[in-house]
Amino acid sequence: MTRLTRPLLLLALALLMSACATRYTTTEGGVPILVGKQAQGQDSRVLFLILHYTVADFPLSMKILTEKEVSAHYLLSDESPPRIWRLVKEDRRAWHSGQSAWKGHRLLNASSIGIEIVHPGYKVAPDGQRVFQPFSDAQIDALIPLVQDIVKRHAIRPERILGHGEVSPSYKVDPGPTFPWRRLADLGITPPWPDAARVAEQRVLFEAQLPDVLWFQTALAQWGYNVQATGVMDEQTQRVLMNFQMRYRPADYSGQPDAESAALLHVLNNPVKAP
Ligand SMILES: [Zn+2]
Repeated sequence: MTRLTRPLLLLALALLMSACATRYTTTEGGVPILVGKQAQGQDSRVLFLILHYTVADFPLSMKILTEKEVSAHYLLSDESPPRIWRLVKEDRRAWHSGQSAWKGHRLLNASSIGIEIVHPGYKVAPDGQRVFQPFSDAQIDALIPLVQDIVKRHAIRPERILGHGEVSPSYKVDPGPTFPWRRLADLGITPPWPDAARVAEQRVLFEAQLPDVLWFQTALAQWGYNVQATGVMDEQTQRVLMNFQMRYRPADYSGQPDAESAALLHVLNNPVKAP
């Protein structure tokens, strides 16, 4: 031992270190592989977080999401206190947002995590109006740490935390106009809420001259919605605008263009005021 010369000692040390870096394991199928090296170029396959409501009570939601073809990674119950069930592992694809698109990305099941919230959606009032039901604070309090945890682990960008209706506007509206998107924005989870003073200022300008339909379509597409620039107020545009309004201006989600919606869109697309 004591006779080891310095070069030999260094060689022994180098061999020992390389032995540490090389570890043997197997794939889940039993194929031997080496680990211990990490590529620089990698990221999570998860780019989006999509929020839903189930339009069913908890037992039925669980039944549908475990026994039918639709599924989600997480199910948030409406029990007291609410509990979170994991139904699909995060590295697996859940089937929650089939026909969907956002900013050029399509079929978002492959690149998203889906959370289903047990919630009735809306009830129809005697006058025929849809009355969307509120979310309980307890449910949202339970949801927020889950969202924060998922977003942090996968480094999901704030603007990619979306409602199902936003990515599938032609046939969905969930989580609907009562979902507290503002609370998520104020916590820094989703993009900053459009600044009220700037929205008011911009609204005055748009009231003097309401932008045409092509402007709305272009602005909605710039933010990320999948809307065709047809230049006419067609059903796809109305559905997209309705989903936008449900999130950012839930007091009125007619899906019709108006100055306030234009102002909100403008400020979202231009988060820093032009000099
Ligand atoms: Zn949904």
